[in-house]
Amino acid sequence: MTLISPGIHHVTAISSNPQRNLDFYSGVLGLRLVKRTVNFDDPTTYHFYFGDAEGTPGSLLTFFPWPDARRGRQGAGQAAVTSFAILPSAVGFWIERFIRYHVEFQPPKSRFDDERIIGFRDPDGFLGELVAYPGAEARNGCEGRAIPLEHSIRGIYSVTLWQESCDLTGKLLTDSLGFRPIREQASIFRYATAERGTGSIVDLRCVPGLWPGVMGAGTVHHLAFRAPDSESQMKAREDLVQRGYNVTAQIDRGYFFSVYFREPGGVLFEIATDSPGFVVDEPIDQLGQLLKLPQWLEPRRFEIEALLPNIRLPMELPGPNA
Ligand code: ZN
Repeated sequence: MTLISPGIHHVTAISSNPQRNLDFYSGVLGLRLVKRTVNFDDPTTYHFYFGDAEGTPGSLLTFFPWPDARRGRQGAGQAAVTSFAILPSAVGFWIERFIRYHVEFQPPKSRFDDERIIGFRDPDGFLGELVAYPGAEARNGCEGRAIPLEHSIRGIYSVTLWQESCDLTGKLLTDSLGFRPIREQASIFRYATAERGTGSIVDLRCVPGLWPGVMGAGTVHHLAFRAPDSESQMKAREDLVQRGYNVTAQIDRGYFFSVYFREPGGVLFEIATDSPGFVVDEPIDQLGQLLKLPQWLEPRRFEIEALLPNIRLPMELPGPNA
């Protein structure tokens, strides 16, 4: 059965220095650190989850900060650009903020009819965009001390995959993940889920002849789509297996259940369940404050904490009036 996914669940990327990663995403962008845990496959390294106030699926950007990671390179076969929604009235606020905190960014440009885009790079070279569009106020924001609600980032707007050829990936999105093609402009083919909202857009950008992407710091590791529950996830898994995809068994990630497979263009896809979510092991007002470990790693907490790099939780950096 086709999965009617409500859209993107999370994007997971690689960074190098964990402190610099926290300082950028919490301190400068004002995303909430909704979970501080370890990479379950390598518990000597962190896994940070950033999102909105509640860690809603579709607001989540997560990082594996590997201190020795070499810098990667965006190219074909990658989820190359991750875009976040803001209100049109917030464009000036973000330009000022990027200048103030020496963020590498591009002057705003237009895309499709009603989008204003500010492209930026994080300190590891990760490619991000702020997308201002009318209607963004319907999304959840994240009020901070320095970033008022009206200027705050409102979840993932879209992810852009750079592909040598877009046909097969487009077919996967429509046939198995519940997306439909909605428009195209130049080399960009836009797909959206039935529910237009947070994380509902995937843009396929055809880049024939472009160099292949190289995984490393500053690049996306995988892209996860939402499954409302475990049952729909397993049905989608069955469908993908029947179509010839090599899909993993269901894996317990603590905050959701996951299956993984590689899409035809080379990007690692995941299907992640909405539940149990981030309040499963700490109260909502304390999300991200403490290092959380899955139960099976608790007996090794002392050893794990000794091996993890020291970090301090960032303060959100001051805004224009400070
Ligand atoms: Zn994931």
